[in-house]
Amino acid sequence: MRPDIQLDSDGGLHHFLTLEGLTATQLSSILDTAESFYPLAGQSVRKVPLLRGKTIVNLFFENSTRTRTTFEVAAKKLSADVINFNLATSATSKGESLLDTLKTLEAMQADMFVVRHQQSGAAHFIARHVAPHVSVINAGDGRHAHPTQAMLDMLTIRHHKGAQFERLKIAIIGDILHSRVARSLIHGLNILGVGQLRVVAPDTLLPNDIETLGVHPFNRVEQGIKDVDVIIMLRLQKERMQHAMLSNEHEYFRLYGLTEKRLTLAKPDVIVMHPGPINRGVELDSVVADGPHSVILDQVSHGIATRMAIMAMTLGYKPDRVVG
Ligand code: ASP
Repeated sequence: MRPDIQLDSDGGLHHFLTLEGLTATQLSSILDTAESFYPLAGQSVRKVPLLRGKTIVNLFFENSTRTRTTFEVAAKKLSADVINFNLATSATSKGESLLDTLKTLEAMQADMFVVRHQQSGAAHFIARHVAPHVSVINAGDGRHAHPTQAMLDMLTIRHHKGAQFERLKIAIIGDILHSRVARSLIHGLNILGVGQLRVVAPDTLLPNDIETLGVHPFNRVEQGIKDVDVIIMLRLQKERMQHAMLSNEHEYFRLYGLTEKRLTLAKPDVIVMHPGPINRGVELDSVVADGPHSVILDQVSHGIATRMAIMAMTLGYKPDRVVG
C-alpha cells in the first residue's frame, strides 16, 4: 500500500490512511493541533466553525461504538454536517457495489468519508476512487491499520508523560498478530523516537516478522513490563482468529492478564491504557481497569480532540491559525 497517496502536492495531509511514511514533524503537528482544541471543553459554546458547510460521511462496514461516536462528536464540534451511513440496511446489502455506493454519496456532496472495514486495504481502495476534493480517513481496516487510534494513544501518552518519547519504555501486551492498533502504534511510536518499545504475547499471537518492526518481543509478561512507563493492553481479536490460538481465556488471563501484583513490576507512576472495548478478567483485572494508573477514559476524550485535528487538517485547516 503506497503511503504517499495520502499527501497532496505540497506534502500536506489530504487523506489519513496510515502512519507509515509520515514524519515526526507531521505527527507532532497533529498532536499540537489536537491540544489546541482542549480549551473548547471549558467554553459555553463548545464548537468552532472550521468545517462549517462541509459534509462528513461515516461509512462503517464493521461495528464500532467509541470510534464512530467520537468521529461524529468531533465533526459536530467542527460545525460539519454528519451523515452516519448504516451499512447493514444500505444498498450494499442489496448487491450495489461499493464504488456505486461511493459515487451516490459523492453526488450528495460529501467532502469526507470516514471508513471502517473488515478488509485490510479498504480505505486505500476507497481513497484511490473518490473525487479529488474528497478526503478519506481510515477508521480501522482489517488487521492493517488504525491510525487515528494510534494518534490519540500518543496524545494520551504525551499528556501524561511529556513530549520526550525517547525517555520512555512502553509495552504493548496481547494479541499483536491481529491488532491494527498495535501495527499503527508501532509505526507511530518509532517515528516519534520512543526509547524502547516492547511487545508481549505468546508466540502464536506475534507476527513472524516482529523483529523487523523495531520492537523487542517478550513471551513473559513479568519480564515485558519490568520498569516500563506505559502499558498498552490489547483485546483478543477473536473475530479475526482463523483457528484456536489460545487454550482458553482463563489460561490467557493467568499468563498475560494485568493484575495489581504484576503492575508493581512497572515504574511506580506507570499509566495503563486500552483502546477498548475492554474485557474485564480476560486482558486486565477490573481493579486495574478502574484503578489510579488507568487512563482508559482519558483516551476516549483525547480521541475527540485528535479526530478534530485530523479531520480539520485533511480538509485544509492550517494549524498555525489560532483556534478559539
Ligand atoms: N477499537 C479498536 C479497533 O477497532 C480495538 C478493538 O476493537 O479491540 O481496532
